[in-house]
Amino acid sequence: MKKSLIAGNWKMYKAPNESVEFVKILAKNIRTYDDRDILICPPFTSLFPVSEVLSKQKSLKLGAQNVSPEDEGAFTGEVSTAMLKETGVEYVICGHSERRNIFGESNSVVNKKVKKTASAGMTPILCIGENLEEREIGRTFEVVRSQIKESLDGFEQPDRLAVAYEPVWAIGTGKNATPEQAEEVHCFIRGLLANLFNKSLSESIIILYGGSVKPDNIDSIMRQKNIDGVLVGGASLKVDSFVRIVDYKI
Ligand code: PEP
Repeated sequence: MKKSLIAGNWKMYKAPNESVEFVKILAKNIRTYDDRDILICPPFTSLFPVSEVLSKQKSLKLGAQNVSPEDEGAFTGEVSTAMLKETGVEYVICGHSERRNIFGESNSVVNKKVKKTASAGMTPILCIGENLEEREIGRTFEVVRSQIKESLDGFEQPDRLAVAYEPVWAIGTGKNATPEQAEEVHCFIRGLLANLFNKSLSESIIILYGGSVKPDNIDSIMRQKNIDGVLVGGASLKVDSFVRIVDYKI
């Protein structure tokens, strides 16, 4: 059975002590479901202490927000796949729009990160999505097509891949794509994945929606056929809102 994935991206919020306290409270409040996985992606410095809390329970998985495209060496400030793997990380967000737009990550860098993550035995969550101008001039599908094509060039582990469609204009703005707008792009992405790999593999790949997901829109988002989960920023920082998102009803 394909499980859905509800992922929280904490961005640069919560230092280690606060992260540990938060995860303890979250673990007590979260219901576990057979049909959904729940993932939290704290900042790097919180990964190790949080992994120690998570090792005592099975309800939450651990993810990182970024990774180096290199194995090791003189790369000051970088964190490698081996370091993440040993810390208990199972998923890595690759190419989040904040990494692309603020830190200049190109599709070719994201491509290296996706490959390194999968070959280290973790699942990359490849983030893609158009900005407001691109949507307004009707370039959404073209942008998404080239992001998928370039970020997955030569990628051969589709059984270890998740994609997050995150329209940049909907991230942290309170303006979410309507469920129908998101479904239209998800369906298009599924088709691209079928062309790159094959139909049955494309159906097994989790495609997340991200962009101002909240307790009041999660149910209608999760009702869409090609939406297999969500990547949640702001609303994953509070126990009540994240628990309600995990408890989505379709
Ligand atoms: C994100 O960080 O990936 C995100 C979608 O943020 P928000 O939910 O706050 O829009």
